[in-house]
Amino acid sequence: MRTLIEGCAVATVDAAGTEHADGYLAIDGDQIVAVGTGRAEVWPDGPFERIDGRGCLATPGLVNTHHHLYQWATRGLATQADLFGWLTELYPVWAGIDEQSVAASAAAGLGWLALSGCTTSTDHHYVFPRGAGDLLAATITAAGQIGLRFHPCRGSMDLGVSEGGLPPDSVVEDTDEALAATEEAIDRFHDPSPSAMVRIAVAPCSPFSVTPRLMREAAELARRRGVRLHTHLAETVEESTYCAEKFECTPLELAEDLGWLGPDVWFAHGVQFDGPAVTKLGATGTGVAHCPSSNARLGAGIAPVRALLDAGAPVGLGVDGAASQEASQLGAELRQALLAARLRGGPAALTAREALALGTIGGARCLGREGELGSLEPGKLADVALWRLDGLGHAGIDDPVTALVFGPPAPLARLLVGGRSIVADAHLLTADEATLARAATTSRRAADRPLASSTPAAGPSAAPPPVDHRHLPSI
Ligand SMILES: [Zn+2]
Repeated sequence: MRTLIEGCAVATVDAAGTEHADGYLAIDGDQIVAVGTGRAEVWPDGPFERIDGRGCLATPGLVNTHHHLYQWATRGLATQADLFGWLTELYPVWAGIDEQSVAASAAAGLGWLALSGCTTSTDHHYVFPRGAGDLLAATITAAGQIGLRFHPCRGSMDLGVSEGGLPPDSVVEDTDEALAATEEAIDRFHDPSPSAMVRIAVAPCSPFSVTPRLMREAAELARRRGVRLHTHLAETVEESTYCAEKFECTPLELAEDLGWLGPDVWFAHGVQFDGPAVTKLGATGTGVAHCPSSNARLGAGIAPVRALLDAGAPVGLGVDGAASQEASQLGAELRQALLAARLRGGPAALTAREALALGTIGGARCLGREGELGSLEPGKLADVALWRLDGLGHAGIDDPVTALVFGPPAPLARLLVGGRSIVADAHLLTADEATLARAATTSRRAADRPLASSTPAAGPSAAPPPVDHRHLPSI
């Protein structure tokens, strides 16, 4: 299958920042074969699909470096809580998830991401209630249905409230079982090939829900199997206090002690990273998934993105969520990252092109795929967003990258993943949006049921009573 997009502006996001005001992009199979200015001199003998790109900007497809798809059907709760309060209210709800609800949530969340220009998404799934079914496989099936490139991070929690952690004991796993299930996920699903649609990462959840042993052995497992490491780190002041009281160090010092620094690691958030931490992240090539809307929603603060970029650390964008970032549109995070950086560091703190780089090549670096994804160059995979910028929302802004980042979320003329069209004229081609929405609504009603009952049903999926986190000894 061959495709030629022509007549559009092109922001390649290559190392030289090459752009074409009136350019083309030629795609053969799942790869980009030519990018340039003016009329394309390719395939004189046809056949190929010709896409009229006039009024549009072609960019690399966006890379989402942090998400929790299972939360899609539990959005809009604990809307004024901080992180620990929000988690404490939601853990009991999440104890009731099952294969059906996770499948519906993942398909809805991934479909919505595609509509916002995302071609590759991670998913950090760390809640595995006993007897809930094959939840990781449900998310991978959903990604196949929507057609996105997918990096599921097999998460885990083994530090329940009875051991000094935050989550209720009902949602944590046994340490050895969690490690075995993570390795099984690598065996079943991980594809190391350059054109991979699915790659697994190893991802214990956070310092306050995971034991040091699980963190350490997870790092050993990932390195033994050649896969990447992901976790939450330095998200809030309360987490820093927890680490200081329990481990007498900062979150990053804890991570370093557990073997969690290096170019095969990316952390979600990093809001609380201080100067020495930023220097260390840059020196070790450790990545950060910047989630500005989620951090704002929970009032956590603003990550030091300017300093991280100056230090040379890989920085990507994440929607996070979905229950801590109900909008969950990756395209909108370009603008949110720009504004958040400027609220922290003034108007020179981040440019529109730097914001676009965070959402593309920066994310690809976090996932170890900068050789295949994140820029529009011959030989790279044909993951492309074609944004329509000639409508009312963007008319009058001359520079297309400025229009995309400073303007309202732009509709997609086309979204291609590996050369395959997933979105056209702002509509999903791979699934019916109304059907996805109905399934998510049904899952929400199922999630509400245990809470509405005064006598929770017996069995592994019954929701335990909420835990008041203020009574935890060390938080
Ligand atoms: Zn998260």
